[in-house]
Amino acid sequence: MGLPHASQRSSMPSVTAPPLPVLQVRSPEPQADQLRGALAADPPLEPTEAFLTELQQQSAELESATPQEILRYAVDRFAPRFTMATAFGPEGMTLIHMLAEIAPETPIFNLDTGYQFAETLELRERVKQRYGIEVQLKRPDTTVEEYEALHGGPVYKTDPNRCCFDRKLRVLHEAARGMHAWASAIRRDQSEDRSRAAIVGWDAKFQLVKISPLANWTKKEVWKLITDHNIPYNPLHDKGYPSVGCWPCTRATQLGEDERAGRWSGFEKKECGLHTA
Ligand code: SF4
Repeated sequence: MGLPHASQRSSMPSVTAPPLPVLQVRSPEPQADQLRGALAADPPLEPTEAFLTELQQQSAELESATPQEILRYAVDRFAPRFTMATAFGPEGMTLIHMLAEIAPETPIFNLDTGYQFAETLELRERVKQRYGIEVQLKRPDTTVEEYEALHGGPVYKTDPNRCCFDRKLRVLHEAARGMHAWASAIRRDQSEDRSRAAIVGWDAKFQLVKISPLANWTKKEVWKLITDHNIPYNPLHDKGYPSVGCWPCTRATQLGEDERAGRWSGFEKKECGLHTA
């Protein structure tokens, strides 16, 4: 799979997106009731009481484990139905680096909304060169042009929850179908929502076991690993973007601002919905 459609890439602007006006955000419609995630796997994995207890105990045991040990557990317990989603952030890059040593065959995917920065997509190529890992691009069923035409313009301007739901969450639901577990690169100290993340837990939204090997890591630890091992990272981080998402919803931050302050700036929204209950 190559770079995104030319039609998607053509809409990428320069790195500086203007701040958006403050708007209320509406919640997306609930997902249709259907078998998804691990319930659609062969064999299916169901969140029975006994299994949830196992996850809870395992999570407690792994609290003091290294991210590498947590990934080894995930691979031993859930591969080949273990996957990872990445937006190529610094945390995701450290997990890719670790997985390249532990289990390079792990399927890794990126939710390619059509609104990603060119720098982010180029990082996918650098991952391929450095590690031989081909991160799969999972796309919505409409191009940006089709989606905006359907909705009378860019949905991110008026209803970013809807836009994230259509262009990220739906795609993750599809990508996760048949898997048992997924790894996320969230850190507990990134936000209040993320502070409650278990190392290992049942993700009811996606019907998967969710593993967060970096839950106990700090930003400093992530960047130390990146510099110590010369791990490739998004050049936008050196231009004032501590957190990089889609270009319409990401701005550079000022000194002293929270590391995620540049995401959905001007909206109440703080998360795309992948990591909230
Ligand atoms: S981050 Fe912005 S552009 Fe990307 S899917 Fe969400 S609302 Fe749409």
